[in-house]
Amino acid sequence: MTLTEKDSQYLWHPYTQHKTSQAPIAISKGEGALLWDENGKEYIDAIASWWVNPFGHSNKFIADAIYKQLTTLEHVLFGGFTHEPAIKVAERLMEILPKNQQKIFFSDNGSTAVEVAIKVALQYFFNKNEKRTTIIAFENAFHGDTFAAMAASGISFYTQAFQGMFIDVVRIPVPVKGNEQESFDALNNVIQNHNCAGFIFEPLVQGAAGMVMYEPEALATLIKICRENKVLTIADEVMTGFGKTGKTFAMDYVSENPDMICLSKALTGGTIPMAITTFTQEVFDAFYDDDINKALFHGHTFTANPTGCAAALASMDLLQTEEMQANIERINASHLIFQKKIENHSKVFTASTLGVIFVVEIKSDSEESYYGSMRNKLYDFFIEKGVILRPVGNIVYILPPYIMTSEQLEKVYKTIEEAIEMV
Ligand SMILES: *Cc1c(COP(=O)(O)O)cnc(C)c1O
Repeated sequence: MTLTEKDSQYLWHPYTQHKTSQAPIAISKGEGALLWDENGKEYIDAIASWWVNPFGHSNKFIADAIYKQLTTLEHVLFGGFTHEPAIKVAERLMEILPKNQQKIFFSDNGSTAVEVAIKVALQYFFNKNEKRTTIIAFENAFHGDTFAAMAASGISFYTQAFQGMFIDVVRIPVPVKGNEQESFDALNNVIQNHNCAGFIFEPLVQGAAGMVMYEPEALATLIKICRENKVLTIADEVMTGFGKTGKTFAMDYVSENPDMICLSKALTGGTIPMAITTFTQEVFDAFYDDDINKALFHGHTFTANPTGCAAALASMDLLQTEEMQANIERINASHLIFQKKIENHSKVFTASTLGVIFVVEIKSDSEESYYGSMRNKLYDFFIEKGVILRPVGNIVYILPPYIMTSEQLEKVYKTIEEAIEMV
């Protein structure tokens, strides 16, 4: 039996209707931006394996750091204990995060980072004896698949089975170009009519919605409105963090700072699942009390796993090298050239670039659903050509590992051009 055959006997895959979808491809090796399947076919990983892997597969530098940590202290509980790797991660993050972020809380994945932020926003007001229970989120947001994260997510595809079982979330429009005032008005309106605790958003780019982009000035205005009304702001940088937008964090483009930031995905360079939620001192202080009931009773068994911390430290080392920063700039420059080339194509609706993220929306006669027919046709075409891209409806985006070579990138562009001709 092939790996693929054995897989179908036992395994249940994410976001997969097993009755109608094709069997998964068994990958046996990865190096740099390349992956190989069990038959030796080569693929370019043009989405960094769901946005987690900036420095390439099987990265030796991170692997060495992990091995060293595994053979020194692989894990220790974080309740009542601490360790140097966690402290070093905190110190490193303090150097690169927006200056108002002062405390960090570890968890395991993007959803838990969001879950922690939302619980903290709600308990912050509970601890102050203020009744504020509504969370504000954007339309078509994606914040993860656990319950509070799912409640904040606006892509109905993922959440329809659970409607009516969620915490109280009110949605406002995304301030895309031309829609800014509508978004500001909606926020003011929601704040006036609900007891709002927090506003969660994906800064500048809504990833799962299909890389929907909006301007930093608009986000600054929304954050200002929240601050004036004492609504806590949560920047979900799970996708955008660690260089994707061209700066270390998307919030580095924004003149206002958030109260909390969620990090995961590229945090460990795509090696070990780990997440962090960061807070201002002011948020932390609302939990700091003689009363034990005011503490944050949230934790995960593998909180601050030292091996994950070692991977995060090695990843931050790599991100901050001149070479990696030059790679990010090279990919950005190359995307901009490709964008110019195809944005006037008769079949292209729009194309945009931010940092290493490139997105093109293909014209379509019908409303394309998330996993609709155009999406499947495009996906199958890319796979056949040995390029891993996961279109969202009629939207195709590239989010390459930063180490992707110019030749590999050219092949990705060429394949996208062919796909546009094909559909
Ligand atoms: C992927 C993602 C999440 C969820 O992260 P998981 O690790 O899949 O739980 C949350 N927020 C954003 C913005 C994401 O892109």
